[in-house]
Amino acid sequence: MPGSPEPWTPAARRALPAMRAWRMAFHQDPELSLHEERTREKVVAALKELNVPYRTFDDTAGVVGLIGAGRPGPVVALRADMDALPITERTGLAFESKHPGRMHACGHDVHMACLLGAAAILSRSPRPLAGPVKLIFQPAEEEGGRGGALPLIERGCLEDPKVDFIVGQHVEPGVPLGSIGWKVGSFMAAADHFRLTVRGHGGHASTPHQGPDAIVVASEIVIALQTLVSRIRDPLDPVVVSVGSVHGGTRNNILPDEVVLEGTVRTLNPTTRETMEAALRRRVRAVAASVGARVRIEYIHGYPAVINHPEATRTVAAALGREFGKQRAVEVEYPIMGAEDFSQYLQRVPGTFLRLGVGIPGHSTSLHSATFAPDERALAIGAATLAAAAEGLQGGGQ
Ligand SMILES: [Zn+2]
Ligand SMILES: [Zn+2]
Repeated sequence: MPGSPEPWTPAARRALPAMRAWRMAFHQDPELSLHEERTREKVVAALKELNVPYRTFDDTAGVVGLIGAGRPGPVVALRADMDALPITERTGLAFESKHPGRMHACGHDVHMACLLGAAAILSRSPRPLAGPVKLIFQPAEEEGGRGGALPLIERGCLEDPKVDFIVGQHVEPGVPLGSIGWKVGSFMAAADHFRLTVRGHGGHASTPHQGPDAIVVASEIVIALQTLVSRIRDPLDPVVVSVGSVHGGTRNNILPDEVVLEGTVRTLNPTTRETMEAALRRRVRAVAASVGARVRIEYIHGYPAVINHPEATRTVAAALGREFGKQRAVEVEYPIMGAEDFSQYLQRVPGTFLRLGVGIPGHSTSLHSATFAPDERALAIGAATLAAAAEGLQGGGQ
């Protein structure tokens, strides 16, 4: 490893049995967003075992650890999310979830174990880093509304000591096991949610002329929304508008008073995000007004877009190149239209979000599926990734 007296990978491999055990404990006992109490206890127990000081909070399950308090170099925060999904596991693993209807199907168990592994190797390293490293264990990433990052930020997780850079990672079946994906700039989408309540004139289906029919108006709205993407936004600027639920009516010969439509709007560009909201409101009102129907529009802002900081990302990519070899630090073909509340940190602090490769040729596995089972060798790679990224951002390892 040129220029680097001791890369992090051997230490991470030595920490692999401990990481496996942590991950297994998380995996067997998954907890849904905003219910991560036992997960917090497990994180706290591991940090105690590692002698890493930490902070907990009354009203969020987040845990913030700190290694190297008082060191003069830049403060780097490393973040892992903690929550699981409402899915019944079908992996057949020996350590399958003990709770039907709950599963770590997005790999957050892996993220936590990697962060604990990074804590282990950083806190025991014979060559301490130049600055402090903050460990942010964050609940409720999957929650999709306020999420878990904002409450932790409001409770000061980026202060005292003030964080200079932040790094997060997510398991990615589209990147081969052994590689880490990075990308400067737009990485993941902003996700907003809308609920449209269309009010018409309910009554007997044989007398539709007596007032606006909420079902017909709602149908016209669904079709009209399709042209927002095809005719309002720049074709080179990706946008998704999807209606995911339509509810109204009880039987064949009754016209309902109202129909409720719900959907999502995904954008990469903050200006486009505003344009799409305004265009959607305008279009929906116009369709309803054309037949005298009323419509209530609720437009809920979800997570902002993940935009990786150019300089921090390049610094981390170079550090990963030194750690793993350039061919394993791969620039990925992103963005994707999924969302992540890691964006909340990136709105305040420069940093980067990475993809930890868990893909194996011929073995299909996908996030949020009941059979998602990433290879555990990724744990050592993920821990070394976080350690190398922190070191690189603190100006070390060159
Ligand atoms: Zn997920
Ligand atoms: Zn996830």
